[in-house]
Amino acid sequence: MAIDGNKIIHAVMEGSRIRESKGIIPLFGVYLSIFSTHYYNKLSFEFENMLKERKSEAETLLVRAAQECGYATFQGVRNSWEWEEIVKPMLDREEDQIEGFSAVAFAFGWGDLKVSKLIPGETLVIRAKGSYEASGFLEKYQKADSGKCYMLRGVTGALMDLLYGEDYPDGCFTFSADERFCRAKGDAYCEFIAQKSPD
Ligand SMILES: [Zn+2]
Repeated sequence: MAIDGNKIIHAVMEGSRIRESKGIIPLFGVYLSIFSTHYYNKLSFEFENMLKERKSEAETLLVRAAQECGYATFQGVRNSWEWEEIVKPMLDREEDQIEGFSAVAFAFGWGDLKVSKLIPGETLVIRAKGSYEASGFLEKYQKADSGKCYMLRGVTGALMDLLYGEDYPDGCFTFSADERFCRAKGDAYCEFIAQKSPD
């Protein structure tokens, strides 16, 4: 059965009406909150700018933080009753989980992730046309000379970790992702490729 993204979006919209007293949204087995992408972008890109010649270390830290976040979040998601009831019936094969995760990530507002290639256990290619990081970068800075979507890059690695790494919590960083194309660099879309991390 194909993944019905609209059904997942509907479930997230409905579920996100329930807030705890601090505004936390308990949904899909995890705690969510409404967060400004402008603020997130500012934190990441200014952090990177502040590190100046150590920019690549900032990039690594931001991608790794996103990967850990994606790893823990989707572990919670796939063990939730919402996943069991809404998403699982749409999955035919184990690798369809990646499509399910992408649809949930889209519903969470993380980006319009589309799986363009999956070789089980080896390679995952994900494309996004509306990454908030690329849009935010272009709004505030000049065209980038490297990919700027650290969140989605980390998340792409995390999705492979969850399927093909050691059992949770030991599988994080089994895979790592690069961003080959990025709208912040002038490409038509952002594209992430995850493969096994070097030993
Ligand atoms: Zn990008």
